[in-house]
Amino acid sequence: MRRNTNYTIDAYSRIRRGLLACAAILALCLLGAASANAGPASTRLAYGTGEIVPIPAAIPHEEGDMVDRRILPDLRWIAQRFPIYVSDGYSGPLPNGEHVGCDNCHVRNSDHYNGLAVDISPLRPSSKCDANWTGITRLALWAEPEQNKPAAPFRWVGYDGDAGHGCGHHLHLSWEHAAVAQFQLAEWVEVFPVSAAEARKPRNHRPKTPAEAPAPEAPTGPAGGISTVHSGGVSPRGD
Ligand SMILES: [Zn+2]
Repeated sequence: MRRNTNYTIDAYSRIRRGLLACAAILALCLLGAASANAGPASTRLAYGTGEIVPIPAAIPHEEGDMVDRRILPDLRWIAQRFPIYVSDGYSGPLPNGEHVGCDNCHVRNSDHYNGLAVDISPLRPSSKCDANWTGITRLALWAEPEQNKPAAPFRWVGYDGDAGHGCGHHLHLSWEHAAVAQFQLAEWVEVFPVSAAEARKPRNHRPKTPAEAPAPEAPTGPAGGISTVHSGGVSPRGD
């Protein structure tokens, strides 16, 4: 009896050790999968001249919405992979005096005032947090795998856990940029590189015309003499 008991205990402890090892491997796999899905692999600073331009048709959006052209390749890349609809981009005056975007609907120092933020809802509209939001939630988790720790190049991600944002409401994405006054164009914008071939890849159900293909930006690195100070301390968020 005694030997049998010992044998049983040994067997159990072996099984337990085996299960623990399996759990550890599974945890590592899950961790790996999570980090593989967390944000773009690399980013760069775009010093090209900024300009507030209309959002092209390849990126579903509310009529009249505009953004700084330097984030268009990233937005296009996102629109090819996630079922997004941009409900607001730049908010403020244009050089011709016209007003673009919603009025008084963003916080002070919002990145919307520089054309470097977008508000996103599902392509199939729904004001309830239902299956239409699955792709938007996936995008939110990709851009911000952990609350308040957005993946570069995103400066602030507003979704579940942020007042006035979240599944059934809207997702806010803004891009890191040089400190800048509102209604001005930032000296540089942090973006993730998108190959010209990728940027031209059409959406499954919405073929693009060549006119909509983005002009590839010159591969400019951080130039000497230009400030590269991040503006995180000036305004930690901009929704
Ligand atoms: Zn916003």
